[in-house]
Amino acid sequence: MNSNEILTVLEEIVGKDFVSNKAEDLYIYSQDPGASEPRPVNYVIMPKTVEEVQKIVKLANREKIPLVPMGGGLTLSGLVIPIKGGIVLDMKRMDKIIEINETSRYALIEPGVTTGQLLAHLNEYYPDLQPPIPDAPPSATVTGNALIHGSGYLSQKYGNHGNMINGLEVVLPNGEICKLGSCAVSDYWFTRGPIPDLIGLFISSFGTMGIITKLSYKLFPKPKMRNMVFGIIKDPNIIPSLISKITYTEVAEDILLGKVDKPDYLKGYVTIMVYITGDSKEELDSKMTDVKRLYRKNGAQLMKLPERVMNIFLEKPQFAAVAADYRKGGGFEYVGSFLPLEKTPEAIEKATAISNKYNIVPTITLRIIGKGHCVMFAPTFAFNRADPADIQNARNALDEANKLVLELGGIPWKAELAGQKLIIEKMHPSYKKLLKTIRNTIDPNGIMNPGNWEVN
Ligand SMILES: Cc1cc2nc3c(=O)[nH]c(=O)nc-3n(C[C@H](O)[C@H](O)[C@H](O)COP(=O)(O)OP(=O)(O)OC[C@H]3O[C@@H](n4cnc5c(N)ncnc54)[C@H](O)[C@@H]3O)c2cc1C
Repeated sequence: MNSNEILTVLEEIVGKDFVSNKAEDLYIYSQDPGASEPRPVNYVIMPKTVEEVQKIVKLANREKIPLVPMGGGLTLSGLVIPIKGGIVLDMKRMDKIIEINETSRYALIEPGVTTGQLLAHLNEYYPDLQPPIPDAPPSATVTGNALIHGSGYLSQKYGNHGNMINGLEVVLPNGEICKLGSCAVSDYWFTRGPIPDLIGLFISSFGTMGIITKLSYKLFPKPKMRNMVFGIIKDPNIIPSLISKITYTEVAEDILLGKVDKPDYLKGYVTIMVYITGDSKEELDSKMTDVKRLYRKNGAQLMKLPERVMNIFLEKPQFAAVAADYRKGGGFEYVGSFLPLEKTPEAIEKATAISNKYNIVPTITLRIIGKGHCVMFAPTFAFNRADPADIQNARNALDEANKLVLELGGIPWKAELAGQKLIIEKMHPSYKKLLKTIRNTIDPNGIMNPGNWEVN
């Protein structure tokens, strides 16, 4: 089929208003807000139903056209910019919240449901429930975030967002629908097991295994009150033991650390924010007292914040969405990574040196995932979007930070193409072989986001 014939078939599937191959519509899909190079896109399409998704996938499979599923497109690491051209499937029109199961505590949603939408829905209709969502802009999708092992304000207590997935409905690369998790056996989308757990194949695989059309996501009880204990750490070497002690008490809901070497008087300090929740003032006060005592005993300095500042820190999503943008030209990208807790002091020191080397103000955030089981370690590199040399400078810093993380035993998170290559270089040969076998088996024509996780 030639490109006009393909366009005609796509128009028949979704209607003329929801597909385009015009340069002015494709422009925005050829890039993202991060430091990746723009790359060409041939078509963008916005399906509304699972049947439409199936028809698009079957066409792509027949014609061997690459398909790139996209939620909010906010990962910053170029994951939804096609590497080999093709069709971007913008899933935003599939935005139904299908069911909230209050008792078994899950939300069954379509892939275009945004984090802001789910949060607002629960706040209005189920005020006792809360979703695990990131500090990303509210237009990020729950599905896109869960599929990249995201993290947010419940991660210390309950784990990363990949673990929140109870079930998936997927359109496989051959166009068939497959259900994964308890929904494969039962009407309830309440658990991943106890059957062989294939959901993991779809997490952090960057749209290379299929297209998610429904997702069941865990919800959690929402305590009535929330507060935060703020402190400052002068010696980063205390971080692992301090975090171990705080997580041991089980009082925290979220633990964030940060380092920004501007203004100058903050240089060298690491801030710590321990979020706690409770149903009464007494409960909250008692937990706060515990955390304050731990700060004092273990070398962190307590600080009282003005109410206005405190309110910003207590917002959901958090301030991260605005704080990172401090350089003229407004660009930034970060090497998020999963890092062992014991490596954080060394990682902070070396990532600071990388930032200084590239003349970027050191800006690092860390979020504790689980009871110290893992740290989301994220050195951030700002750049001026209008200055190609400055963007390249940030890319070079990202590359060094990726290498640092791997050297320290961590793994870059939602890695851009260059980062994926570094991870693959270090990957055990048998893992690579298994990954390749699985991909070739379910996607023999290689249509699903090709170029990502390419193992030779
Ligand atoms: C200011 C800022 C702050 C941020 N803070 C956080 C944070 O605190 N925590 C955090 O986790 N992240 C954070 N992020 C990173 C990112 O924005 C989020 O993780 C975001 O939720 C990704 O969701 P998305 O809808 O934008 O996904 P997308 O970028 O659209 O997609 C992510 C991946 O999932 C795949 N995908 C999407 N939908 C489907 C589907 N239906 N089927 C198959 N594959 C699919 C895509 O192909 C891609 O590989 C932040 C980003 C910014 C810009």
